[in-house]
Amino acid sequence: MKSHVKAVVIGGGVVGCSVLYHLAKAGWTDIMLIERSELTSGSSWHAAGGFHTLNGDPNVAKLQAYTVQLYKEIEELSGQSCSLHLTGGVMMADTPERMDFLRLAHAKGRYLGMDTELITPSEAKAMFPLMDEKNFVGAMWDPVEGHLDPSGTTHAYAKAARKLGAEIVLRNRVVDLTQEADGTWNVVTEQGTVHAEHVVNCGGLWAREIGRMVGVELPVLAMEHMYLLTEPMPEVEEFNKSTGREMIGVLDFKGEIYTRQERNGILLGTYEKACKPWSPVNTPWDFGHELLQPDIDRIAPSLEIGFKHFPGIEKAGIKQIINGPFTFALDGNPLVGPVQGLTNFWCACAVMAGFSQGGGVGLALSNWMVHGDPGFDVWGMDVARFGEWASLRYTNAKVRENYSRRFSIRFPNEELPAARPAQTTPLYDTMLANNAVMGDSWGLETPLWFAPKGTEPKDIVSFHRSNDFGPIGEEVRATREKVGVTEIANFAKYEVSGPGAEDFLNRLMTNRMPKTGRIVLTPMVNEFGKLIGDFTIAKTGEDRFMIWGSSAAQKYHMRWFEKHLPKDGSVRIHRFDQTLVGLSIAGPKSRDLLQKLVDVDVSTKAFRFMDFREMAVGGAPCMVNRITYTGDLGYEIWMAPAYQRLVYKAIKEAGEEFGLVDFGMRALLSMRLEKNFPTWFRELRPIYGPFEGSMDRFIKLEKNDFIGREASAKEQAEGPKLRRVSFIVDAADADVMGDEPIWAKVGKDYGTVEKPHGYGAPRFDETGKEVRGSKAAEGASAVRGIIDGEWRVVGWVTSGGYAHYVQKSMAQGYVPAGLAEDESAGLFEIEILGHRRPARINVEPPFDPGGEKMRT
Ligand SMILES: Cc1cc2nc3c(=O)[nH]c(=O)nc-3n(C[C@H](O)[C@H](O)[C@H](O)COP(=O)(O)OP(=O)(O)OC[C@H]3O[C@@H](n4cnc5c(N)ncnc54)[C@H](O)[C@@H]3O)c2cc1C
Repeated sequence: MKSHVKAVVIGGGVVGCSVLYHLAKAGWTDIMLIERSELTSGSSWHAAGGFHTLNGDPNVAKLQAYTVQLYKEIEELSGQSCSLHLTGGVMMADTPERMDFLRLAHAKGRYLGMDTELITPSEAKAMFPLMDEKNFVGAMWDPVEGHLDPSGTTHAYAKAARKLGAEIVLRNRVVDLTQEADGTWNVVTEQGTVHAEHVVNCGGLWAREIGRMVGVELPVLAMEHMYLLTEPMPEVEEFNKSTGREMIGVLDFKGEIYTRQERNGILLGTYEKACKPWSPVNTPWDFGHELLQPDIDRIAPSLEIGFKHFPGIEKAGIKQIINGPFTFALDGNPLVGPVQGLTNFWCACAVMAGFSQGGGVGLALSNWMVHGDPGFDVWGMDVARFGEWASLRYTNAKVRENYSRRFSIRFPNEELPAARPAQTTPLYDTMLANNAVMGDSWGLETPLWFAPKGTEPKDIVSFHRSNDFGPIGEEVRATREKVGVTEIANFAKYEVSGPGAEDFLNRLMTNRMPKTGRIVLTPMVNEFGKLIGDFTIAKTGEDRFMIWGSSAAQKYHMRWFEKHLPKDGSVRIHRFDQTLVGLSIAGPKSRDLLQKLVDVDVSTKAFRFMDFREMAVGGAPCMVNRITYTGDLGYEIWMAPAYQRLVYKAIKEAGEEFGLVDFGMRALLSMRLEKNFPTWFRELRPIYGPFEGSMDRFIKLEKNDFIGREASAKEQAEGPKLRRVSFIVDAADADVMGDEPIWAKVGKDYGTVEKPHGYGAPRFDETGKEVRGSKAAEGASAVRGIIDGEWRVVGWVTSGGYAHYVQKSMAQGYVPAGLAEDESAGLFEIEILGHRRPARINVEPPFDPGGEKMRT
């Protein structure tokens, strides 16, 4: 065993072996994998070996597609078979709602280049004759599904990595991790200490324990999982013989079960409601190649549905029930990337579908370690996406909820109840008393909308407009015409101070920093000129700045800020989290309202648009920004939590004469739509350049050499390939939710569009024909312009909804830049729940296009 290496990967499951392979392939060959026992000794050896490309997050789906097409490569390099069976599979819908869900997934697949198809239950039965098709209303076919040999696949990664020069050390547990002052690691093992620049936690069932070695409690929990294997079935053999094909994989939403052919019988797995965590506090180090005791009672309700839906299986004898543990994060997606607050400590754990995701995880992580960027939009699996609130018990509650709803529909207006309320502001009880429907915003309870007095404050979940539609409209109209107040505690807030603060921010941000007492809006880009942040920054004093940003990105942004802090201590950064809370007032009467609450002049001249002041509001010391996300006259007021009730009460009392209303996050998001304002993580993500994101006026290329300036200058010089645009959609009773395909019928060539940063834009071959399916997943690097005047998918929706004040259904999304200014009718259609609705680009925002209202 070497004593010094560039990187140590801890754990020889499918994920660790994939990370090792990808690091070696990227050129880091001085690397070592250390495994406690034998390869596959965690959950990898007893996996059911199924794989598929579909995922709720299109970016994760993209990495799953990569994983599937990688197997051929590692088989060839290693000489080890993965026993790949690419059978294809169907998802079965038993209700119209589930069929709507499949329509959405199918539409998403269009711009991802997936070859899914909506089919009838009878068509599904023809490929899986054991089902009773009368239980279903429809299905979706995906050809890129199948199963493999988990052990062979793990060994194929390992052998391929070894061939490229990586070392694998077996039967050697890592017992401790200590860090040197220069940030390098001592990996203390049973066989001695290895010194490494980087450490990767691929500990699977023990990832939590490895995290604890470095003082981190990772939000990951193992769950027991059961699947059964039947005796050989004559129907299966007969089907194979008569068709020459294997039976396909089937996923049944209602029963939360999956099933496929295994040898001459059937494998059927369950995600049962009465699920059970395994070793919820500590994972025993002596857990070996063991299975857990099956508990047939626990899966009986799922089996009952399974046997009804697939009567052919009920008749077969059960040969074996496998029960084994595997790990999940709160939302079921992996935890990947560098851990904020630590140097060179990386994670690739909580991978619940190692055989669908392991390749993509390995690729993204190795890119990140070797090139400083994952090369894909990996937010959906970034370890930074959860905050401190994701404690051991919180994780336990959320993982159980996620497991038990593994194949359930999540409606766009559905808030999940487990582990709530976690964080609350001092106004929580007041908001409940006001009949607020609360939502979870990065672990914080936040008012979404206010139900009319006498009605139950509860969402009726739906893909269509629902019971919040009327009340949100009222909130918007009252705010736009008079004045409204809303809680904004869920924004991220930071203070950057010290003699180097201004230079530091100038280096990180694309816009110039403001003068004292002024505010700027500014994106942040990485070295590759991709958007990694969007902030409001106020200069609050000499060497002191306040920053506001996206709540969910707090750890993501802190990681970036810390990475770039000067070593000389000239800059300090503080994240407030919930030690600073806020209220926003907006609407034409908001200035009159504020004036009643303060003892300073807040007239237009004295307190201009984009001014910042510290002032007492209702007697409480506050920071006030003259800016609101509603795009109207308005203010953001920030205070310590101890003052929030006082300020809110003062606003409510003073606001009575102006007709003040409470409004929630959904009204706020509706109002930003009619201003064409983008949101972070929907419109603005690390797959887009700032000019693609239509953030041109905030990019000051001439100001200084900020990070990403060169790449941004190139983007501007060459012209952005894509462009963020707003649409007005001729919708019926459902608005866009995000990720819908945008169709266009154009008779002109708008040029060649490069595929955005690993993302699945529609792809075309040399003749202009759209490339679909596995060929597309392999990924042509460019999108050809459309020249033949046919309807084609040219882009995708990022978000949208109903803009209540202008009474229009609106959507934002990306289209090729050559089409972005074309406002003609009849050019675009947006697919909502399977129906293509006419849509028109709206270059100027429909509400207050000149922006006079916010400036008055
Ligand atoms: C019953 C069942 C069915 C499943 N079916 C499927 C399926 O059909 N498709 C699919 O994609 N996934 C399936 N899975 C999930 C799949 O098994 C996991 O996603 C995958 O195994 C995770 O791999 P991993 O490498 O992250 O973790 P693990 O396989 O747990 O590997 C972690 C490794 O790290 C080692 N290790 C831990 N700590 C240390 C230490 N301190 N020092 C040295 N070594 C250490 C362990 O010994 C272990 O070998 C199933 C799981 C179960 C239980």
